[in-house]
Parts: sequence; C-alpha cells; structure tokens
Amino acid sequence: MTEQPIHFMEKNGDIYEEMADWDVNAGGEKIVAKRMSGRFRNLKWFGMSIWLFYFIVPYIRWKDKQAVLLDIPNRQFHFFELTIFPQDIWMLSLTLLFFAILLAAVTSIAGRVFCGYFCFQTVWTDIYTWIEGKFEGDTPQKQLRFKQAPWSIRKLLKKISKHTLWLAIALLTGLTFSAWFTDAFELWRDVLSLQAHLAVWIVMAIFTTFTYVFAGFMREQVCFWLCPYARLQGVMYDQNTILPAYDAERGEPRGKLKKGETDPSKGSCIDCKLCVNVCPTGIDIRKGQQEGCITCGMCIDACDSVMDKINEPRGLIRYASYAELQGHSKPQPLYKRPRVIIYSLILLASLAGIAYGFLSLSATDFSVRPDRQPLFVQLSDGSIQNRYTLKLLNKQNVPIEVQYQIEGMAGASLHGLHDTYRIEPAKVHTVTALVRVTESELQSGISPLTFNVKVVEGAQSDISYQTIFTAPKEKER
Ligand code: SF4
Ligand code: SF4
Repeated sequence: MTEQPIHFMEKNGDIYEEMADWDVNAGGEKIVAKRMSGRFRNLKWFGMSIWLFYFIVPYIRWKDKQAVLLDIPNRQFHFFELTIFPQDIWMLSLTLLFFAILLAAVTSIAGRVFCGYFCFQTVWTDIYTWIEGKFEGDTPQKQLRFKQAPWSIRKLLKKISKHTLWLAIALLTGLTFSAWFTDAFELWRDVLSLQAHLAVWIVMAIFTTFTYVFAGFMREQVCFWLCPYARLQGVMYDQNTILPAYDAERGEPRGKLKKGETDPSKGSCIDCKLCVNVCPTGIDIRKGQQEGCITCGMCIDACDSVMDKINEPRGLIRYASYAELQGHSKPQPLYKRPRVIIYSLILLASLAGIAYGFLSLSATDFSVRPDRQPLFVQLSDGSIQNRYTLKLLNKQNVPIEVQYQIEGMAGASLHGLHDTYRIEPAKVHTVTALVRVTESELQSGISPLTFNVKVVEGAQSDISYQTIFTAPKEKER
C-alpha cells in the first residue's frame, strides 16, 4: 500500500512556521523520479564517471606490480614509484584532513554538491533506479502499471533481470574494494576458484549486502536517516551559500496556462510539477529549502526546459543564496566570507604539509639506539666499549647494499659488523654494532659520534645519524 508522505508539522504560526510546509518522505513513499537531460544532469554524469577510477585503478600495473596497493599486512601503501611506510603515515592523515576541509569549504559555498553529484550512495542509487526504469518503467505511472499487472513469465523475467543486475553491481563493488588491498588479478583467480581468504569473503559479503540494500531499496532514506554528513551540513551553510531555490517573487501566483495563452496576473510558475517529478528525493522545492534536498539541480534542468517551452527566461529555479533571494542582489565575494577564509587557510596549511612531505620523503630510514644496560663496558686492555642497535629501512622497490661506518671520535673503532649488508626492498635491517675507544684517546663523559651508511650498490645517497658515546668520568676509572 502506498502511504502518503508525512506532513512534517502542523501550521502553528511560530518560529518553525516555514517548516509546516515541508513534506518529508520518511520511507513510506517510493520515489520514481523522471529522468531528463540538462546542464546539471550532465554534471552529475561527470561526477559519476569519476567513480570509474574506483573500478579501474586496481588493475593498473607498474613495473610488474600493482600500481596502487594498500598493503595493510605489510604496512605499506604503494602509489606507482612511491611507497609510504607507517613512518610517513602523517602525510595520509594530512591528505584526509585536506579532503575533509575541502568538503566543508565546498558545502559552505555551494551546499551539498558532494551529495548531489559525487556521493557513492546517490551515484549507486542513480544507477540502480536507471536499471529499474529500463525493466519496470521510468515513470511512476508505468511502474504502478507494472506493479499492478498480474504475474506472468515476462514480468518474472524482468524482476529476475533487475535483481541479477543489481546483485552483479553490488558484488563487483565489494570485490573491487578488496582489490585495493591485495593483488587484483590474484584476487579474481582466488574468488573464481573459491580459494579466497576468509577476510575477502567477509568484505565482499558486507559490501554486496549494503550496496544492494542501500542503493536498491533504501535509496534517499539512507541520506535522511543514516548519513552523518547530511546532518552536519546545516551548520556549514550561511546566508551566502548558494542552493537550488525557487524564485517565489517571480513564480507566484502560480497557475496553469493553456498553450499559447498569457496571463499577466500570474507568475512564471505554470504548476506543471515537473520539478517535483524529477526530484530523486521527492521534494517540492517551491516550498523552500528542505532537509532532504541533495542539491542535485535536477529540478533546475526540469524547470529550465519548461521555461524554454513557454518562452520565459530560465532560472525560475536556480542556484541562489538566501541573501540574493531576499533582494541583496550582489552575493558577498568569497574573500570577504570568514568561513571561506578559515577553510582556505587550513587547506593551504595541509597542502603545504603534504608538499613538504613528498619533497622530503627519503628512500631510507636510519636510526641508531645506544644500549642503556649497561651504558659502557671496560675491556681488559682498558678501552671502553658501547653497544648500539642499528635499524635501516629500505623504502625503495630495489635492493641496496650498504656499509656501516663511524666518524667524529678520535681512537674509535667499529666492531661486530660484516663488511657489507644487502637490504631487500621494503625490509628493515637490524644489527648490533660495537664501538671501542682506546684508553689513551678516551674522553670522559659523553662525546658525539656519527654513524654513516655508505650505499655501495643502489641509487640512494649516503645517510648518517648523530648519536653519543658514553665513557666513565675520570674519577670513576
Ligand atoms: S529539490 Fe531539486 S536539487 Fe533538491 S534534491 Fe530535489 S531535484 Fe535535487
Ligand atoms: S517546473 Fe517550474 S514551472 Fe513547473 S511547477 Fe516547477 S517551478 Fe513551476
């Protein structure tokens, strides 16, 4: 049974007066949005096409390896030539901060454009409803006819085809997610031969179920009930945020027009309801900005097409700010809006951090830790010995051969090491080194000491690490 949308609030004339006109579809009504071409529909196709990267990137190979691989078990993130290790994870944190602030900045300027044009929930829902439209009809009337038609082989086949396609997309979405974390081609082979790791089956089951249910059945209700970002966005708006808005000044009083007829007593809105019919969330934008609006602009395309037909200027529904609709014709420039300035400063700071991180990424990571227990040992010939733990991480995709050396202390010699060491790609080499200083050259207390890594094979340049050598005080000897 089709329920009517909940009438949000009774008119009580108080502070929430305008909300009394909102219609909120809280899940009782199935929305079948009419599809139309137009500028914003094209923009949506463009936003949707960016998701192709999600499906394609895991299959790109680079030097016989997966070009982009988030290798969680080995704690390495590979991006073509670049490998990011846990030591450099702060760069990923900055990148996430950059995108979070970018989202906030875009929302404060142009509302929920992320939801309308790019969010995976609205994009997948758009694809699912397009498929549904192909099998069951692309208008509410056609779908109602299909629903009310008696069961037949044809109807059954259409139902099965729709759900099979929905499930195939959901499965592909889940499998592709796993492909970012493991070799994509091996993953396909393992999945097709039913040999995949249990974790892969769990991830695929979760993604497949959620994609199928969220995009196929819950649709705009996910935005309304489950999405935290949808809730947060209200606080990012201000009077200068541009949103799809109905120009009531120009449109009212609305009224139907016969073909060729003009009526100067009426506004531009001919009450054709096309803007409502194309809305994927079932909103009548003529009742004002509403919580469920994902600012997709489909109602703008619809109304523009109507205005073209009745020879009226476009823009009865358009992206406009509250300030503009209140008659302040000039929108405040971006550089005068404190919110935009603060977001821009954070964006610039995180961009600078990311750039610094990329420019200062080293191909190795070297550290030296002097042993504390004991601080030193006195040998039978009177010389003093310190023990160190050396750790060298090779962040490159090729092995390197290195030699450890010391400098900076007269009479110091290095012991306990081989002549050279070969360090495989992405491996940490740990070794214990002994440094001895003869009694005659010994200085009491703490002295600076430098460990050098000389790269004898590999493109990487030499590196060094400053540490200390500890000797007993004069009177302790
Ligand atoms: S009201 Fe317009 S912009 Fe908002 S969701 Fe509906 S069609 Fe999209
Ligand atoms: S599409 Fe335009 S003319 Fe038609 S009802 Fe909506 S606002 Fe009025």
